[in-house]
Amino acid sequence: MSAVDEVKQRLDIVQVISAYVPLKKAGRNYKGLCPFHSEKTPSFIVFPDSQRWHCFGACGTGGDVVSFVMKRENLSFGEALKLLAARAGVQLQPPTPQQEAEADERRRLWDLNRQAAEYFHRLLIESSEGAVARRYLEQRGLRPETLRAFQVGYARDDWQALGSHLKAIGWREEELLRAGLVIEREDGSGTYDRFRGRIIFPIRDARGRVCGFGGRVLGQSEPKYLNTPQTPVFDKGSVLFGIDLAREAIRRAETAVLVEGYMDVL
Ligand SMILES: [Zn+2]
Repeated sequence: MSAVDEVKQRLDIVQVISAYVPLKKAGRNYKGLCPFHSEKTPSFIVFPDSQRWHCFGACGTGGDVVSFVMKRENLSFGEALKLLAARAGVQLQPPTPQQEAEADERRRLWDLNRQAAEYFHRLLIESSEGAVARRYLEQRGLRPETLRAFQVGYARDDWQALGSHLKAIGWREEELLRAGLVIEREDGSGTYDRFRGRIIFPIRDARGRVCGFGGRVLGQSEPKYLNTPQTPVFDKGSVLFGIDLAREAIRRAETAVLVEGYMDVL
């Protein structure tokens, strides 16, 4: 039996979903308010016989216990399975050394990006060099609490500022390169900061991990916007700036407002 089947066999879907949604017995099945759209009359049904769930309201979708946890906790299939396997006491196939190494690298890059975001944010809020950026953002009507919520930052107009800072706190040059924070010099004599003299918008995934950055110039130089390149944790085409802060409200309102730029989101 596969690990998925074993997990599903050992867990009762009614019990798992009850931890998220109060369910009432209705005939052979269970009924509750759908956690994926807002409603006053329950149209979310859990079927113990088939171990499946379905929303007969606005969502019109359903699935099994794994897909429920994926949707509710916003996890990948593998992550949801891991969580449920732990609950069910099922031993999952250990990851291969290569998978382990890749997962480890992603964790390192998220951590590195988080520290870079903190550095940029401190510069914007506290430094004298950040004053020009602070003035610009204030003129655009942004309040300090908005800048804090999005952890907006500032990159000094300097070729080495971020790189030196991160290396001083223990990061290796290869890691900075992998994260796209620095760029290799063509003559091979080291690296320089990708973001210079820019307002920095940390881009987070739905779970709040900093996966990349967008940088807007101050003044007239080009390009106006610069983004982190493709990295093991950043795929520009599959991330929505602000989703980590907006997802609960989107779920409640059943409406997502999409806008074009970072400043529009703010
Ligand atoms: Zn629904």
